[in-house]
Amino acid sequence: MTCSLNKNAELVRYAFDKGINFFDTAPLYCDDKSEDIFGIALKQLARQRDKVYICTKGFPETNDTAEKAVAAVEKSLKRLNVDKIDFYYVWCIRSMKQYRLAMQKGGQYEGLLKCKQQGRLDHIVVSTHLRGEEIETIVDEGCFDGILIGMNILNFPYRWSGAQAAYRAGIGVVAMNPLAGGIIPKYEKQLGFLAGPGQSPTQAALEFLIGCPQITVALNGFSRREQIDMACRCADECRALDEKQINEIRAHISENLNSLCTGCGYCMKSCPKKIPIAAYMQFYNDKLLQDRSDEKMIKELAEQKIYGILVDVPAQAKDCLHCRRCEEACTQHLNIIERLDEIARWEQQIYEKKL
Ligand code: SF4
Ligand code: SF4
Repeated sequence: MTCSLNKNAELVRYAFDKGINFFDTAPLYCDDKSEDIFGIALKQLARQRDKVYICTKGFPETNDTAEKAVAAVEKSLKRLNVDKIDFYYVWCIRSMKQYRLAMQKGGQYEGLLKCKQQGRLDHIVVSTHLRGEEIETIVDEGCFDGILIGMNILNFPYRWSGAQAAYRAGIGVVAMNPLAGGIIPKYEKQLGFLAGPGQSPTQAALEFLIGCPQITVALNGFSRREQIDMACRCADECRALDEKQINEIRAHISENLNSLCTGCGYCMKSCPKKIPIAAYMQFYNDKLLQDRSDEKMIKELAEQKIYGILVDVPAQAKDCLHCRRCEEACTQHLNIIERLDEIARWEQQIYEKKL
């Protein structure tokens, strides 16, 4: 294990030597070894510590008191071999209820403020899978120095208003999941339209995030030197995009992925039952892109309801009234009702099997 930790730490140093200076880790990542790997690398980079930004995270649920939050920061500091964490995330906010839990009196945020006052961390930030308008609410409350959001060239319309709000507020926006959980490299043939001349869809997806002025940092996972090299090439070659170009990409996705939901959210305004249609349709994209079986979709749906875009939703697929207002508003003219009915059957199985 030590050998593999050292080998991975070497990769971190390789990335640093190539000019990457912003690193994202967390407890539990890589079988709970990620912070240890960074600890080895940061010890070796101790003389250049001022040139490295290190981020780690803590859940609001497991750190539901200020004392627990302080203890979690201390544990991460020790594992990372540093005196100070540059960015500490209130981690994985998937519902406003979790956000309020983190912010409650005597809760995680209060503990993190204390750590900040003691110089144990520099910036308190938040990582979230919420919808764009909910992210806007968090940004407007003004408690964080930055946000980390799941965003890529395929799903960006779904959270774009949140990224824009953060950009306007002058706080950093870090984009995670730039390759849509591996969908983009896996389906390069189907997604060829994303690429420009001499580019692969994977490169196009990375360059898109790097080129958006609203995105401060695009995170890219790596397990090999070649992946680091490719990310650096994309950063060197990408061009800054303006609002017109971003809108053109949005339209281009919409035209070329005409059976896919683009996450634009137009369908949501008219739903009398407040069903999170865009979230359900984005989830359904996986079936279309990956030709997934019902069994896999049910498993994925169960996970999305715990960790993903379907946590704490105000209504479920089965609540649909078949009124067709959403289909009339849909920019992609999708058969939303048919898809919701299929999803409702999967949800039923989740409840019956208690998944
Ligand atoms: S058809 Fe269903 S999902 Fe669509 S607007 Fe009506 S109730 Fe909402
Ligand atoms: S309007 Fe259509 S494409 Fe846009 S979010 Fe709704 S279902 Fe998806």
